[in-house]
Amino acid sequence: MSSSVPEGLATSVDAAAAAFEVRLTSTPRPAEERAELVKEPSFGTVFTDHMARVSWSNVEGWHGRRIEPYGPLQLDPASAVLHYGQEIFEGLKAYRHADGSIWMFRPDANARRFAASAERLALPVLSEDDFLGSIAALVRTDVTWVPDGDAEMCLYLRPFMYASEGFLGVRPADEVEYLVIASPVGPYFPSGVKPVSIWVSQEYNRSGPGGTGSAKCGGNYASSLLPQQQAYAQGCEQVCFLDARTDTNLEELGGMNVFVVHADGSVSTPRLTGSILEGVTRSSVIQLLRDAGHEVDESDIPLTEVLAGLKNGSINEVFACGTAAVVTPVGRLAGAEFDLTVADGDAGKITMDVREQLMDIQYGRATDRYGWTRRIV
Ligand SMILES: *Cc1c(COP(=O)(O)O)cnc(C)c1O
Repeated sequence: MSSSVPEGLATSVDAAAAAFEVRLTSTPRPAEERAELVKEPSFGTVFTDHMARVSWSNVEGWHGRRIEPYGPLQLDPASAVLHYGQEIFEGLKAYRHADGSIWMFRPDANARRFAASAERLALPVLSEDDFLGSIAALVRTDVTWVPDGDAEMCLYLRPFMYASEGFLGVRPADEVEYLVIASPVGPYFPSGVKPVSIWVSQEYNRSGPGGTGSAKCGGNYASSLLPQQQAYAQGCEQVCFLDARTDTNLEELGGMNVFVVHADGSVSTPRLTGSILEGVTRSSVIQLLRDAGHEVDESDIPLTEVLAGLKNGSINEVFACGTAAVVTPVGRLAGAEFDLTVADGDAGKITMDVREQLMDIQYGRATDRYGWTRRIV
């Protein structure tokens, strides 16, 4: 992962987690109810009993590391986040392996990206220790909420940071909160992987040169919602954006990176221009494909070349990737003036192979040759 923030020297996760004071809820979900929720989770609607929190002020720095009962936040109506959107977030998962142990996938990469996002949004940088420690402490506290890995379920973790200071002047906030919440999630495709259809927006961009596209911030998502609605209206599930500078090259989806597979087995993905979010899944997929013998090119990918390639058969797979949906085949690409099926509309072999390889590492079914996984329980 390239980022402007140097790699922190994280000490052991244990020491970092021990810095969090645990304040247990007096009203945990009854075990039976929890077991039901964990058995059939739905994405992002049910949360565990606790959350992690660290507060920051320009006077005290980072302080008050704690695990506390999950619950509503108190927010001054003048809080800067509500007016100017000074906010960042991350998304990663804890996977239960067959032996019951629980593992994170490249959490250090998320920690570094979070630090880079913080710099771009003029928020204070949280140390890699606090990032990893908060996650480990929360997962250990709510360990009974981590679903079994055999049905490809896991615990989704959402670290985020926002400007909490009540002050309407426009400047970086002097008070900030960092939290982690957790939600048990089931497989993204409960009835088997199904290719998604994508609407290419030629009206809106997700971000522009010098903007916040390479930071994981709520504002990028806010601006993607209208084009996403247009995608739905066109019968598509996701929207793909073009670069704002030329309006010709593929950039990425609202929350996933995109790859194109050529008939000769080579693969292309948009190069990181500064307006694309550098996905952890993206960089892992690049590595796995290269090690499987595929040439992977990070370059500009003109929409016109993709359309021509789909028509003449030189491109026969397209996929999107990100933590939530892992690797998702794309079966249809539509826009104002085109509507094309990718190959026969089925999931391609190279797409499905890399998807399986990645998930096998995440769920501990294959040897992790890369040192990507980190045990926390
Ligand atoms: C989070 C995100 C991704 C995927 O990143 P992963 O680290 O692979 O989960 C891709 N694009 C955008 C815009 C994102 O916010």
